[in-house]
Order: sequence, then C-alpha cells, then structure tokens
Amino acid sequence: MDGSVLTTLATATAADVDRAVASARRAFEDGRWSRMAPAARKKILHRIADRIEAEAVALTVLGVRDNGCEFNMALKAEAGSAAGTFRYYGEALDKVAGEVAPTAPDVLGLVHHTPVGVVGAIVPWNFPLMIGAWKLAPALAMGNSVVLKPAETASLSLLRLAEICAECGLPDGVLNVVTGPGAETGAALAAHMDVDVLVFTGSGATGRLLLEASARSNLKRCYLELGGKSANIVFADAKDLDHAARVSAMGIFRNSGQVCVAGSRLLVEASIHDAFVARVVDYAEALRVGDPLDLRSDIGAVNSETQLAANLAHVERARHEGGVVQCGGERLLTSSGGTYMAPTVVTGVSERADLFRQEVFGPVLAVTPFEGEAEALRLANATDYGLAAGLWTQDLSRAHRCVAAIRAGVVHVNTYGGADNTVPLGGVGQSGNGHDKSLHALGKYTDLKVGWIQL
Ligand code: NAD
Repeated sequence: MDGSVLTTLATATAADVDRAVASARRAFEDGRWSRMAPAARKKILHRIADRIEAEAVALTVLGVRDNGCEFNMALKAEAGSAAGTFRYYGEALDKVAGEVAPTAPDVLGLVHHTPVGVVGAIVPWNFPLMIGAWKLAPALAMGNSVVLKPAETASLSLLRLAEICAECGLPDGVLNVVTGPGAETGAALAAHMDVDVLVFTGSGATGRLLLEASARSNLKRCYLELGGKSANIVFADAKDLDHAARVSAMGIFRNSGQVCVAGSRLLVEASIHDAFVARVVDYAEALRVGDPLDLRSDIGAVNSETQLAANLAHVERARHEGGVVQCGGERLLTSSGGTYMAPTVVTGVSERADLFRQEVFGPVLAVTPFEGEAEALRLANATDYGLAAGLWTQDLSRAHRCVAAIRAGVVHVNTYGGADNTVPLGGVGQSGNGHDKSLHALGKYTDLKVGWIQL
C-alpha cells in the first residue's frame, strides 16, 4: 500500500503442497466433514459468516494494508461479501437433493450429487477474501476438502479466514492454506496427482498453464475465471447522462481498475460523445486518490510497482496509437508514498489499438465513438474476452436486443457492475469457463453418481 514491508510469508515448496494435499485427502476420506450431517455443516458455515461479520473491520484493514484497495469499498466487497457468501452456501447446502430417475419399473435409478474430494483453489490479489470465499464456501458446503493458494501479494486476510474457520469448528485438515509464489507453490498444486478439481481466478496466461498442468498430470477438472475488456455502451437516448457518467466512471476506476468486470471500454454514441466524455472526465478528476485507509479517499493504491509500471506503459502505447489522454495518465505522488495512479480517460481509441483489445487491470478507460446500434454491438463483441458489459438506453426493445447480442457473462442495463450471490459470475471466450456464485457454482464441487438397482 505504501511500499513498506508489512510481513514476510513462507514459501510452500512442492513437498509442503504434497503434505497439504495429503492432509486434505485424509480429512476427506475419513468423513470428518464429507460425511458430517448437512445440518451440522450448515451450522459451522453460518458460524464462520457470523465471525467474518464480527471481525469485518479488522479483516478489511488487514486486506487493505496488503493490497491497497480503498477501505470503504473493501469493507463491503471483501468482508461483507465473504460473510454473505458463507451464509448463502450454508443455507443452500441442505437444499441440494439427488433424483430418482424415470427408469423402467423393475429398476431404481438414483442420481446422487457427491463431493469431488480434494479441491485446489488458486486466487488473485484483487479482492482475495471475496474471491476466496466464492471458492471456499461452495466447496466446503458440498463436503469437499480444500487446499487454497492465495496470491503472494494478498495472503493475509485469507490466512486469518482459515483461522476463523478452525475457530468456528471446521475440522482440522479440511481447509489447508499454502502461501508462496505462483510459479512454485501454485504450479505444484496445479500439477498434483491427488487434486480432483482446480478452481482459479486470475490471468489468462496462468489459466493456460493450469490447463497444461492438468493435461500433464491427472486430468483434474479446471474452472478458470479470467480477465475481461468489458464494453460499456452509452446510447444517446440514455435517461440521465450525469448519472450514467458517474456510474460509468466508477465502473472502471473503483479499486484502481483492478476489477475483473471493470467497464474498461466506453463506447459512446457519436452525437453525445464530447458532452458525455466531458462529464466522465469531470467526475474522474474529482475522485480523491490516496491512502486507502483514509476514509475520505475514493480510490486507493495500485497493487504493486509492477502493476503501476504496466498501467503507465499501456497509456504510453495508447498515445502512440493515436489516443488522446483527456485526464490522468500518470503516477500520483501522495503523502503516504506508495503506488497511486490518476484515473485516466483516453479518447480516440480505435478498435485496432492495443488499449481496445488488451486488459490493463488499472484505472484506464478507453473511449470509442459509434454510430447506431449495429456498430455498437459490433464493437462490443470485437474482443477475445466475454466477461461483462453494460448499456444505457431508455428503449426497452433495444435493451433486450443488446442483452441477447452481446457475448458476455453479464450485461448490465442502465447501471454498471451490480451483482449479488443469487446470480452467477463467469465469462465466455477467453474470460474463462465455469461460474462462481449462485446455486450454479455448486456443480463445480460435485460429481454425478448413479446407483442402478435391479428390483
Ligand atoms: P495471476 O494469474 O498472475 O495470479 C493469480 C493467482 O495465480 C495467484 O495466486 C498467483 O500466485 C497464481 N499463479 C501465478 N502463476 C502461476 C502458475 N504458474 N501456476 C499456478 N499458479 C500461478 O493473476 P493476477 O495478476 O493475480 O490477477 C489479475 C488477473 O485476474 C486479471 O487478469 C483479472 O482480470 C483476473 N481476475 C478475474 C476475475 C474473474 O472472476 N473472472 C476476478 C478477479 C481477477
């Protein structure tokens, strides 16, 4: 957050990962959790949710000091969301029932949802608690054991969460955390022969390595939640352009743009382009960027020097490709030191430009004008990603047409970025496969097993 050393973490070697997986396997096989009555599992998940809520401020401060996200947002998105996720899956776990299949009358065909066994979970540094909970809670709810690898720059809140789980009665060995660099600790988990399912949130480059590791090891199932370059389309008939500008700005700038669903491509109908961009720029310039633990800050720090340098390089390249930086584009020097970047708006970004195609994962908004609905849809879909999108219009038919036509896991209408536990989060194309959240996520953590009984 301010560049100072907070703590040091152990690097789990391949041998440590092996021990963690063996511990998870033992716990799974002896049934201390996997065969515990669902009502008892539910109680423990609820207890964990209560404890997260009770410790929300401390957990949030721990996470913010680690990854630099602004406190106000982190309190809701990290601790608040993690508590809600444990509660949601605690509530859901005894609603999952098998089926009696419509077989011939002399056969009883039973379809069971069985836990998969050992789940490996590898999560990123942006929103570690929230994304960690999206993996842990449904995996545990279904009776699995887990080996979790947090990101090396954001492990602390997840380590505390693991302690909370133990204090709330999760049996020993069911949740194991291994810290360390991706290339060593993460790679060992991905290649492990006794991990049944690997769930991951992070970059496409790492996602590819995980698929390779699965292919080379035991063909474990891999669910990848990857990045995005999400389009936010503003039609001239949008109802309240001030509101749209404010929400669109926060759709990219919150958590310094380090949000997988960030609306990083703003497509604006040509007739309102200049006026709308001016509003977005006004709003961006008014945002207070600074110490993430200062409650007056709207935006906190960029996660690391490496990420900040990459963000600035993207802006430089955009300039060379004809983009015009309307605001930001530079490092911000603040009293707390550290890695801060001014919210940046670049106009004139052509669909051939890198800034139009590549995910920055920083506070950089690429603006492109369009003429009419067909061009808006073509530009929105001109991406290898497919995580999220937004559109602003008062025309209900157009809204439905666009929701259907845009290739993305979620399309927001007259807002950007809303979500809760009841709806899945996941993408298409190179944004990955599988979904976190909602009842649909439970399928990742169960196998289908048939009992075929001749009567
Ligand atoms: P990353 O892929 O570098 O790291 C993610 C995790 O993978 C970390 O724990 C890291 O240690 C581990 N890792 C890295 N190399 C590994 C390897 N060779 N083997 C095994 N594990 C390895 O990504 P990041 O920079 O931490 O996160 C940012 C990315 O995550 C962005 O692209 C962003 O869009 C994406 N993201 C996606 C979602 C989503 O739900 N789709 C949510 C948040 C972030």
